[in-house]
Amino acid sequence: MTEQTQTAPRVVILGGGTGGTLLANRLRRTLDDAVITVVDRDDSHVYQPGLLFVPFGLAEPERLVRPRHRQLHRGIELRRSEVDRVDLEARSVELADGTALPYDVLVIATGARLLPEETPGLTGPGWGETIHHFYELDPAIRLRDALADFDHGRLVIGFVDLPIKCPVAPLEFAFLADAHLRERGVRDEVEITYVTPLDAPFTKPVAAHHLGGMLAERGIEVVTDFATGEIDGEARQLVSYDDRRLDFDLAVVIPLHGGAAYVERSPGLGDELGFVPADPHTLQSKAAPEVFVIGDAAALPASKAGSVTHFEGEILARNIEHFCAGEPLEPGYDGHANCFIETGFGKAMLIDFNYGTEPLPGRFPGPVGAPLLAESRINHLGKLLFEPVYWHWLLPGRPLPLIGPDMPRRGKAFEELDQEELDQDDELDEKPASGHKEVGR
Ligand SMILES: Cc1cc2nc3c(=O)[nH]c(=O)nc-3n(C[C@H](O)[C@H](O)[C@H](O)COP(=O)(O)OP(=O)(O)OC[C@H]3O[C@@H](n4cnc5c(N)ncnc54)[C@H](O)[C@@H]3O)c2cc1C
Repeated sequence: MTEQTQTAPRVVILGGGTGGTLLANRLRRTLDDAVITVVDRDDSHVYQPGLLFVPFGLAEPERLVRPRHRQLHRGIELRRSEVDRVDLEARSVELADGTALPYDVLVIATGARLLPEETPGLTGPGWGETIHHFYELDPAIRLRDALADFDHGRLVIGFVDLPIKCPVAPLEFAFLADAHLRERGVRDEVEITYVTPLDAPFTKPVAAHHLGGMLAERGIEVVTDFATGEIDGEARQLVSYDDRRLDFDLAVVIPLHGGAAYVERSPGLGDELGFVPADPHTLQSKAAPEVFVIGDAAALPASKAGSVTHFEGEILARNIEHFCAGEPLEPGYDGHANCFIETGFGKAMLIDFNYGTEPLPGRFPGPVGAPLLAESRINHLGKLLFEPVYWHWLLPGRPLPLIGPDMPRRGKAFEELDQEELDQDDELDEKPASGHKEVGR
């Protein structure tokens, strides 16, 4: 870095969602003299975990949205514009409003983009009427209206392919749909089918076993190895690549995800899906040393989840400080993720894992904490409490007491793993960067 940038580094953060906001706020406290600019296309910050509850009338849509600029500390500039492209050589971001933003440090925090048009037929006949999703506000509201009138037939719930944000959210939807239909007294008239391209309800065996049992208890049919290649909206069928057909009356299909479109227009920045490859432990991009990545935008073997984004933020803030001071980066991020899985009737499960350790039973964050991989009321309260924690601790960049970026090992029942899985975990610990579609989600 030049002498000038050492005194006043220009930090440009693309995306003012979960990751961009919490990182900017952390850096504002620690990098006194930096000029910090956040770029986002709009001024509406959506609390995305709340979208799950909208279709069941359990969350008021307007309460999930707050002004983006109000979440950023004083001394951080918010530029409202679409990002057009990044010029890695010139170290400059071109905005759709025609201006250029030169940077000394660039952070990619533009999340993941839904790509429903990538699946033939998904946005054709029935889209928004009999075919829905809940990953954005307006579609979640439309699904709420459709579900309110739905009292018989087959409800099919699934995702086209990974990676998706919060990969347990479709499962949570299935559990909540079961509870919702029971409460309305029409559960016997509705067949619920959970469809997945995986060979089990979850990517990792111990959690898949627990979740599979819970789906069976509720009478939710599971169709595995079903890679949806097409939707036939007229016939109301999901069609797999191997030409199996699944009838539905109401379908909830989470579309494919990709990175932001400008990543594709920025040579050298992203992979074929528009996500940005990075060192899995330092979060420095592979594209250039002064470019870092946080959250869903990253091509990493970690979940696309707010908890991941939050834990990454702690490490990344320190690494940007190190970078500006010309110091070595900390390989500190271990892939830590945790997530409450809402299971209906006021209960939820909690999972906690990292690059090398799959979700296991036990307690979090230690032997006397909340139950892991078991339904409980306390976990449901934790899920509800997460919303104020998000606005008042996570986004302002405050550390959470007892919950740090390192996955706690104490309290976890490692004896549930057989030796073969432990060997696989050791291999992952040694080379965690391979293929972000394969592990940890
Ligand atoms: C239904 C649902 C339920 C979820 N539940 C949970 C949960 O229970 N627990 C959990 O941990 N996580 C959950 N998540 C995931 C969590 O919300 C995301 O992982 C998290 O918000 C990622 O943060 P991010 O900063 O990477 O992306 P985002 O918060 O999505 O922010 C990206 C920002 O970039 C902006 N942007 C994108 N492209 C451009 C462009 N070209 N120009 C300008 N601006 C741009 C967007 O406007 C947006 O503000 C859920 C997500 C969904 C959809």
